[in-house]
Amino acid sequence: MTVTQNIKPKTFFGINPRTGQTLTQEFTESTTEEINNAVEQAEAAFDAYRAKTPQERAAFLEKIGEEIMGIGETLIKTCAEETGLPEARLTGERGRTVNQLKLFAELLREGSWVQAIIETAQPDRQPLPRPDTRSMQIPLGPIGVFGASNFPLAFSVAGGDTASALAAGCPVVAKAHPAHPATSQLVAEAILRAVAATNMPTGVFSVIQGPSVEVGITLVQHPLIKAIGFTGSFRGGKAIYDAAVRRPEPIPVYAEMGSTNPVFVLPGALQERKEALAQGLVNSITMGVGQFCTNPGLVISLASDDTNTFVTKAGEILTAVQPGTMLTPTIKNAYDQGVQKLSSVSNVQVIARGPATEDSCAGSAHLLKTDAATFVANPELAEEVFGPSSVVITADTKEQLLEIARNLHGHLTATIHGTPNDLEEYRELISVLERKVGRLLLNGYPTGVEVGHAMVHGGPYPATTDARSTSVGTAAINRYVRPVCYQDFPENLLPAALQNANPLNIWRKVNGAFSQKPVS
Ligand code: NAP
Repeated sequence: MTVTQNIKPKTFFGINPRTGQTLTQEFTESTTEEINNAVEQAEAAFDAYRAKTPQERAAFLEKIGEEIMGIGETLIKTCAEETGLPEARLTGERGRTVNQLKLFAELLREGSWVQAIIETAQPDRQPLPRPDTRSMQIPLGPIGVFGASNFPLAFSVAGGDTASALAAGCPVVAKAHPAHPATSQLVAEAILRAVAATNMPTGVFSVIQGPSVEVGITLVQHPLIKAIGFTGSFRGGKAIYDAAVRRPEPIPVYAEMGSTNPVFVLPGALQERKEALAQGLVNSITMGVGQFCTNPGLVISLASDDTNTFVTKAGEILTAVQPGTMLTPTIKNAYDQGVQKLSSVSNVQVIARGPATEDSCAGSAHLLKTDAATFVANPELAEEVFGPSSVVITADTKEQLLEIARNLHGHLTATIHGTPNDLEEYRELISVLERKVGRLLLNGYPTGVEVGHAMVHGGPYPATTDARSTSVGTAAINRYVRPVCYQDFPENLLPAALQNANPLNIWRKVNGAFSQKPVS
């Protein structure tokens, strides 16, 4: 089975965003034939890969981490050159990438993630006997993974989407982001070394490269691809989702896209700590030149003297933040245009901007301000501007503030700053926001996403194309599996997870109660 779209061989290069110079390493865009081959090999590897034991898959994931660390400083320097991100940040991101792989390895060794459910037979049940039914999650098949530009390690070739799909037992064909081709190649080679070292089937992982949208769309259209993991822009995610649903066999697309991450600052919190709030907020807006999907792009509070002082202070702090190099000239231009679009809305004022710079790829921070009526009347004010900007919205009344919350579309996060009294008075705000986001924060800042078992990095559309999942943390594995029920199967034909003896010693739901005991 193949896709016939004809992509011709074409070369491309990375760009150093700090200098604007084209880098010397030449890359060739993947052709239709190469993409077809990658997917066919993934399908050919699927049965052998899913038959590997949890311990074998865990060792594979850990080996990928070791191989990534083994690249050493070359990886950090290559990545810094292609992305303009500071080496210290990239060293941290490499640690996060390796830890994600280790966390999934632990999940596999513990084993209960397969959600084994056993309902034993009741031959004497009246009026009809109950059959023996047992279900668990099994992997979907080959997965297409799209990496983002702003996390060249943690959300790219060996990032969370790849780690969760491989952990689930699915082969991966990764579409590298064209903003960091050399980084992607180094990481892909590390994964392939781990494939060989741990005796995994050839084809369980491959990477495709190229700046043309046809490369990614060909992957999505391939009939043997069974799901897509995507991290990136709304435009890219929606295009991929649309291509996936138009296939003869539609497939799930887990696209984690942009978000403006509203922050509600309630009156008591402002009275108590307006200066600290201003500092914390500006830190969060400008961290990483605002190039995080959790960047707080909307700040909502009640009109008051405290709010005025808070906004003035935030503006003063933001004015002193030096502009930083953005990931690509395209992202920098989109940021400038985004701020321009926001500020051209009638009744929206720019109240502070960072210093000017001669670096043509650097983004200056912006703080804008408007009122609730303007925000509600202009839905474009809630759209993500990817970079260090935020819009402060003041409401005249509590009801107007709640109306803003009710009008929000889906976001990855929402934050409330409040005292215990505020939270008592604004209890309804929590229930409104629960319906809008994947993660609710209290008295914190949305940037910085903990990778763990309880994390939800997702949310209703347009933050994602599927609000029922997360792209960060171990629950991400659930995106790439589906349940299968085995009815009246003998012990020797059941998967180990469902056998009476419980040889994997996992937690299972047996006749309605969780247990690790064998079924008698
Ligand atoms: P992007 O431009 O959407 O790129 C992501 C990937 O999708 C790239 O491989 C890109 O390749 C491909 N792509 C984009 N448009 C496509 C199309 N029409 N058809 C086929 N493939 C397409 O995103 P980005 O600039 O890397 O990332 C920035 C965005 O990601 C921000 O909006 C940020 O908020 C978001 N983000 C979200 C999360 C999250 O978890 N929700 C995390 C990080 C970042 P080509 O460039 O070759 O088209």
